[in-house]
Amino acid sequence: MRKKRRHRRHLSWKQRQIRIYTCFIVVAGAACILMAAGAKKSNLSERLSRLTHKNIVNKAVEPMEQNISHMPTGTLITNYRYQEFGASDPNEIDVKAPMIALTFDDGPNPDSTKRILKVLSENYSHATFFVVGTNAAKYPETLQEIAASGCEIGNHTNNHKNLTKITDAEISEQIDSVNRSVKKATGEQTTVIRPPYGAFDDHVLGMLSEPVVLWDLDTEDWSSRNAAEIVEHVMDNVKDGDIVLMHDIYDSTAEAVEIMVPKLKERGFLVMSVSEMAKYKGKTLELNKAYGKISVEEE
Ligand code: ZN
Repeated sequence: MRKKRRHRRHLSWKQRQIRIYTCFIVVAGAACILMAAGAKKSNLSERLSRLTHKNIVNKAVEPMEQNISHMPTGTLITNYRYQEFGASDPNEIDVKAPMIALTFDDGPNPDSTKRILKVLSENYSHATFFVVGTNAAKYPETLQEIAASGCEIGNHTNNHKNLTKITDAEISEQIDSVNRSVKKATGEQTTVIRPPYGAFDDHVLGMLSEPVVLWDLDTEDWSSRNAAEIVEHVMDNVKDGDIVLMHDIYDSTAEAVEIMVPKLKERGFLVMSVSEMAKYKGKTLELNKAYGKISVEEE
């Protein structure tokens, strides 16, 4: 006992400081555990709704394993899971969350496509880029960046031809030349086709070797060239399963996407490519079919 006391008296100021800090950490840790236990008992979704998205990501609150099936879709928990795990791992995607596929036609463009890829990647999101052959041949590095980001590359014909107004041989060449450029740049072929102007008929559909993807939310970004208008139109009309039409050749569209993607995620939407959205909704995109949206109730 005496020995102990003497020892205590001989502690240097530095050692005492360390002890004080250690005590503080232990007490703070215990308080945290108690608070966490209390919070667990309270209504989880109510508690989450008081937190901002930033709170959840930064403070790493971990409610994922608890009662996930009872969470209403579109809550912040979706954002958390998505932020944490990214879109590339289907096992970690909350398939009950609302989804949206962003699609971009007429690129790639080394400036605006790159801006769009950056904001998608910062938000663990993906999109589908329907490229035209003329730009695909000119900007192979941008194609590579699209592929490397986990986004999907679709076929929008070589030089934006109306497929219902050309011969069979021309249709084949319009599609094949895009695939040659995409394959040369990325090693892969395109996975989906969007005919320019959305123009196709049964004959064209029968000739195409990939599923046709149209859209159901048209931003008319080519006409307004106004980022705020594009964002407003999407945010006012978006619903689960929508395929949004935009063009990655305008600065105004890139600016709109920079604003829109974080807003969509705040609302609980998973932002993804068309093929990903089909996969997560348990749909197979079939040949000889055209898809304007991906909805479970559709069939
Ligand atoms: Zn187009």
